[in-house]
Amino acid sequence: MQRNLKSILIVGGGTAGWMAAASCGKLLEGAGYKVELVESDEIGTVGVGEATIPPIQDFNRTLQIDEVEFMRATQASFKLGIEFVDWTRLNHSYIHPFGMYGVQMQGIYFHHFWLRHRAQGGTSSHDAFNSSAVAARAGRFARSISNERSPLGPLGYAYHFDAGLYAAFLRKMAESRGVTRHEGKVVDVKLRGEDGYIESITLSDGRVLAADLFIDCSGFRGLLIEQTLHAGYEDWSEWLPCNRAMAVPCDRVAATTPYTRSTAREAGWQWRIPLQHRTGNGYVYCNEFLDDDEAATLLLGRLDGTPRATPRPLRFIAGRRRECWKKNCVALGLASGFLEPLESTSIHLIQTALAKLLFLFPGNCFDQATIDKFNSLVCSEYEEIRDFLVLHYKATERTDTAFWRHCQAIKLPDTLEQRWEMYRQSGNILNSLGDLFKESSWFAVFTGQGVNPSSYHPFADIPSDEELKRRLEIIGGDVIKRVNGFPTHDDYIRDHCAAPPIAAPRD
Ligand SMILES: Cc1cc2nc3c(=O)[nH]c(=O)nc-3n(C[C@H](O)[C@H](O)[C@H](O)COP(=O)(O)OP(=O)(O)OC[C@H]3O[C@@H](n4cnc5c(N)ncnc54)[C@H](O)[C@@H]3O)c2cc1C
Repeated sequence: MQRNLKSILIVGGGTAGWMAAASCGKLLEGAGYKVELVESDEIGTVGVGEATIPPIQDFNRTLQIDEVEFMRATQASFKLGIEFVDWTRLNHSYIHPFGMYGVQMQGIYFHHFWLRHRAQGGTSSHDAFNSSAVAARAGRFARSISNERSPLGPLGYAYHFDAGLYAAFLRKMAESRGVTRHEGKVVDVKLRGEDGYIESITLSDGRVLAADLFIDCSGFRGLLIEQTLHAGYEDWSEWLPCNRAMAVPCDRVAATTPYTRSTAREAGWQWRIPLQHRTGNGYVYCNEFLDDDEAATLLLGRLDGTPRATPRPLRFIAGRRRECWKKNCVALGLASGFLEPLESTSIHLIQTALAKLLFLFPGNCFDQATIDKFNSLVCSEYEEIRDFLVLHYKATERTDTAFWRHCQAIKLPDTLEQRWEMYRQSGNILNSLGDLFKESSWFAVFTGQGVNPSSYHPFADIPSDEELKRRLEIIGGDVIKRVNGFPTHDDYIRDHCAAPPIAAPRD
């Protein structure tokens, strides 16, 4: 069959651009496609985005990325989850770990049995039944050994990495597979007269680059999808009021924690992402409650190492592009929308949008049914993540600042209202197929933030008291035994994937 669509132009060389380039380079290799990428050193990248979630392992596997090589090249550390400090109330902390709690019994989720245990006066924390949570608190790590046959399932983990080094790593891979990079600033975009499709872009030195498919990875500005095609933006600030961030790296200190820390602050929250060569930090806040100078001062005063730069301000509006695929342009990354990094989901959204694009890749023409399907799938993904993030803000006892009082008054999206009410009544969490956050994630955050159901599944009453006690002891014991066999996170990195020392740049 004759294929007409043969050339792809990616605009932008941040994480999104190079993820797209590396994927196209690998998966379209030998198929006769021309793949080009244009980026501008003068504009630069957003320079943040360093915490990930476990499905990134699938992305790396698809690209046949060697984990050790990747860890060394990006100064990466392992991530077992996120510690949420002061979110529920001051001086409180909980972990949202990766991986499952316990094991399913009687065909239902483990958390129902733990709810029964607690209702009967049991005092074991739910964390005791999740290997990632226990390992995170103990500062230990080891990848699952492939022949380990634990009923607890594989240890859930992801990575923290240096965003700039990750883009460079992917660039090398993409260029080695035939992707052509152009350095230059796009100053004009030409549309086809007959249908308004993008025909070409013009760089500031006059070069003109044409393509059949354009992938807009130009960041928040959405150079093609918004500035040119006016796809529109759905603003979700009513649910997620934070609209600013200050980011600053600092020297690494002490042990490398195998988890991200998110600490709730007066007008938002602060991230801490430990890498091998430095620690990434940032304050995400709402400008109605805190100004930029104050945010920078507060952030600098709360670092656990010497700052390596002056804090960099970033502005955003929570929400998503109304159409991420419009005509012959697909937006990825920040050009497609933005949800704050509370659960480290943005890089994941690049990955899943790319997977969908490649799955639905156009052959001879752009058919609207495919485009509509792509857009509705992206929309559902954004909405599910939005709801999960809103839960963190809404389920808080904090009323100590105007920001937290504002959060308590947020009116829930209907989808979250329904999910929350079902959990409150019955302890049930039922995901839709394809939801990113599974039952264990919702349970972790509900429980961590003090949302307790008034009941649990009736099948959890099936084992006798003695039998339940016995099963919980076995599972908790298995978790401890497993984690006690892990080295410390730093020892594991040193022995398996230590990166060469580099001087992280200072201002
Ligand atoms: C405060 C903050 C914290 C974050 N933390 C996380 C996190 O922990 N985990 C996570 O998963 N995600 C996180 N993200 C999101 C993550 O940073 C992005 O999803 C990721 O970096 C992808 O960005 P991008 O490539 O879309 O855009 P950018 O990095 O902004 O890249 C845009 C590219 O387009 C190019 N460009 C723009 N205009 C032109 C032009 N006219 N001509 C030529 N080139 C042009 C630029 O040069 C650049 O190469 C965070 C985001 C923010 C704002």
